[in-house]
Amino acid sequence: MILTLENISKTYQNGASSLNVLSNITLSIESSESVAIVGPSGSGKSTLLNILGTLDTDYTGILKFDNENIKTLNEQKLAKFRNKKIGFIFQTHHLLPQLNLLENILLPTLILKDKNLKKQSETRALELINSVGLFDKIKQYPGQLSGGECQRTAVIRALINKPDLLLADEPTGSLDNESADNVGNLLASVNKLQNTTLIVVTHSVELAGKMNKSYKLVNGKLISF
Ligand code: ADP
Ligand code: MG
Repeated sequence: MILTLENISKTYQNGASSLNVLSNITLSIESSESVAIVGPSGSGKSTLLNILGTLDTDYTGILKFDNENIKTLNEQKLAKFRNKKIGFIFQTHHLLPQLNLLENILLPTLILKDKNLKKQSETRALELINSVGLFDKIKQYPGQLSGGECQRTAVIRALINKPDLLLADEPTGSLDNESADNVGNLLASVNKLQNTTLIVVTHSVELAGKMNKSYKLVNGKLISF
């Protein structure tokens, strides 16, 4: 999937005052690229990621996925597009405490009606779980897993519907160094092996170093470095 941003700007209105967070960002991200976005707290990283994830459509400029302008899709089409094409990972894992590891990963597939597709997702889930060394823990609940294990589970959950684009907002922000390294390597290998475009917002120099490209968000602009 190729992402194109043309003059994307975003201003938050708070009553009489307004805050210009993104100014005329123009950028193209090829499929299979991995991109790190760094920048100080409050610089607009999450704002940008929400726009790229089509969660926020209140911006000026044009965002295209494979040449399709996101703003031309109605809400229903957009939700369908998002579920199918985009995987999200956040700083905290957002796993459901009452579901075990495997059930959490299969949650996004519950809406599938096709039995074959369901079966395929299950097989895929087990392969992915195995590949990150969590096979012994599939029956365990989030409360019985470490932070790193929960985050690896969240990465697999984001991948279960085979997204073309994976967006991660500070995915290692709450992990110790070793777990952060594991999750970073997992993200980088997903990008390489599964051809999933990856955009990671991070404070971590190590994590940014695992991506093909890095940009810094400064005064609403992305600067390549
Ligand atoms: P980052 O993720 O880089 O820390 P954010 O994108 O969360 O930055 O926020 C950028 C700026 O926009 C901050 O000054 C923040 O306070 C402001 N902001 C974020 N969300 C809103 C909102 N919904 N309404 C008003 N201001 C917001
Ligand atoms: Mg943020």
